[in-house]
Amino acid sequence: MFMPVPVYSFSGAVRQEGFRMASLGKKALILTGKNSARQSGALQDVLTVLHENAVETCLFEDITENPTVDSVAAAAAFGRREQADFVIGIGGGSPMDAAKAAAYLMASPERQPSDLYTAGEDNHLPLALIPTTCGTGSEVTAVSVLTRPEKQTKKSISHKIFADLAFIDGAYLSSAPLSVLRHTALDAFTHCVESYLNTQADDFSRMYAREGLRLWQENRSVLETAEADAGCFQQMMNASAMAGMAIAQTGTGIPHALSYALTYHLHIPHGKAVGYFTVGFLQEAGERSCRGVLQQAGFSSLQEFREWYRALYGIPEVPKNLLESAVESLLANPAKLRTAPFPTNRTVLRMIAENLLNET
Ligand code: NAP
Ligand code: FE
Repeated sequence: MFMPVPVYSFSGAVRQEGFRMASLGKKALILTGKNSARQSGALQDVLTVLHENAVETCLFEDITENPTVDSVAAAAAFGRREQADFVIGIGGGSPMDAAKAAAYLMASPERQPSDLYTAGEDNHLPLALIPTTCGTGSEVTAVSVLTRPEKQTKKSISHKIFADLAFIDGAYLSSAPLSVLRHTALDAFTHCVESYLNTQADDFSRMYAREGLRLWQENRSVLETAEADAGCFQQMMNASAMAGMAIAQTGTGIPHALSYALTYHLHIPHGKAVGYFTVGFLQEAGERSCRGVLQQAGFSSLQEFREWYRALYGIPEVPKNLLESAVESLLANPAKLRTAPFPTNRTVLRMIAENLLNET
């Protein structure tokens, strides 16, 4: 069990504990998306606390959803020009993952974007992460998923980058539209499922996955009604972080691996794309495993989960040839296949991939 990220998780965490960022360096490169860091109030909290502690800042607000290697390279080049000596990522998984990769590139003037996908040293500039969604858990994982247009897919960089500080404040979730809440919460749910039913799981990772599912289940109704209080937002974010701590040990599984093609080619949001494969994955996992994990999330059967997914997210139309090519790519990744708690082959993977094919 290895979880090196100090996490401050409560309402007002940045305002109260943000002074700790001052020990990370003298000038912060702050990476955000276009709007969410401002809308959520997180950026203002960070700027206030840094300026109170005499830390300089420079702001790069151009991180888009599913960030590309090029956008990370642009952010790192900006940070180098500004002579920033640490990095802060504020937002959903996109700005947080971009911040990890930028912190890696900026650690040495020689590092090139191509080094992101080359084995080697993992050292990086000091890094603080502040989520504004309840999905990726990126603030506590070592993973940074970037879009690689030349490979027509998304892929984790080759380096493990854990943040030096994470601040989780449920208040930042209150500005998120219902669609963002739904998509990201589904991502957190799938992290718990894929980690719990993973050959790499152990007692510790299962503890995080179970507790993540419990918090998720207790607050799940916000995804249906959009009625939430501050405690609910905090718990949804904590569920996401616990799911992140679980996948930080085990990695994600087959649904995540299959999902990247849907996001790249059809622009389906990450959580919804992963959820598309969760029904088939649970079916293959077998009655006992499937029921056990679904019950922790408050679903009495796979059929109930399938109907819930259909009602909240709608079943996307996915061309069969795209599913086939996602399966072929996965077959070329034996390490990922080994995470499945059941034997895999082309037929099994196609059953998973095509489970919802005729339901649109
Ligand atoms: P995201 O792509 O970061 O953001 C999605 C949208 O939600 C953006 O338009 C964003 O606006 C908006 N948004 C975010 N927070 C908001 C708030 N509080 N109020 C209003 N709008 C808000 O979404 P995400 O699902 O969190 O991240 C997905 C990315 O993370 C994918 O690239 C996925 O592959 C990756 N991921 C990483 C890990 C990991 O362990 N590192 C795990 C799973 C997934 P702005 O553009 O204005 O910010
Ligand atoms: Fe995910």
